[in-house]
Amino acid sequence: MFSYRHAFHAGNHADVLKHTVLIAALQHLTEKDAALTVLDTHAGAGLYRLDGDYASTSGEAADGIARLFAPTTPALAPALQAYVDMVAAFNQGNTLRVYPGSPFITQRLLRSHDKLKLFELHPTDLRSLAGNVAQLEAGRQVAVLHEDGFEGIKKFLPPPARRALVLCDPSYEIKSDYAKVLDMAADSLKRFATGTYAFWYPIIPRPEAHDLPRRLKTLATKAGKSWLHATLTVKSSKITETVTGDTKRPGLPASGMFLINPPYTLKAALKAALPQMTELLAQDKHATHTLESGG
Ligand code: SAM
Repeated sequence: MFSYRHAFHAGNHADVLKHTVLIAALQHLTEKDAALTVLDTHAGAGLYRLDGDYASTSGEAADGIARLFAPTTPALAPALQAYVDMVAAFNQGNTLRVYPGSPFITQRLLRSHDKLKLFELHPTDLRSLAGNVAQLEAGRQVAVLHEDGFEGIKKFLPPPARRALVLCDPSYEIKSDYAKVLDMAADSLKRFATGTYAFWYPIIPRPEAHDLPRRLKTLATKAGKSWLHATLTVKSSKITETVTGDTKRPGLPASGMFLINPPYTLKAALKAALPQMTELLAQDKHATHTLESGG
């Protein structure tokens, strides 16, 4: 079915951006008493071993979360510190063995009256997710659904207390994911116009990836909704040639988070965190970030 497995990438630079934004958004959204529903359309396995077969094969966390865990790390901006503290809470001391995915990060920040719905299609990840979630003993607060997240969230919008965060984090392995994200965003805004929607996407040389944030911006603007767009680049996207004449692909060089109806505190939080994130995660001189908002 799918070959993408998040375990290979857990804790990489894209996760640092995505999960820093997720935590900052949730911290704000859980300040009000009213119940919050979080819909995680592409949940993954929930928890990852960084010393396991998958992660140690790719070692992507070494150039992601591990750089923020280093003893020489300077004082961090509050949003970045909150992210590091979150990952630290799943580990002992300074040793990084476990990386929490979006389901576990979210669950830690929810109150007992909030709800979390997790969608996962891959049977192996679903099994790991269900097993990991069972150990939380969170009862009916957390639901694991073996469903297509793009479609599955429809039945939960609008949520009972009319407060929701939707995290949409596909692997974009299938080209049609880009169009599905846009369809889901348009449909969700019709069902629940005041929800907070957060979309992660890869910045790769592919027209659909380039168009996605532009189209989300148009959608939000036409709907009269505020938006926030943050990107993080850690290296050049140029394909290079090795001494033997083979071509070398750089791996994921950059990614972005696009939010519709973002918490009003998020821009300032990211403005302080993004320059540090860029500096600490830079792999070459092309490392940079952007932050824009509108509406
Ligand atoms: N959100 C997770 C996190 O931050 O820890 C990582 C998710 S990973 C990028 C994407 C996941 O979506 C994979 O585990 C994949 O199996 C799953 N998936 C792919 N298509 C899906 C779909 N249509 N609905 C639900 N899950 C899907």
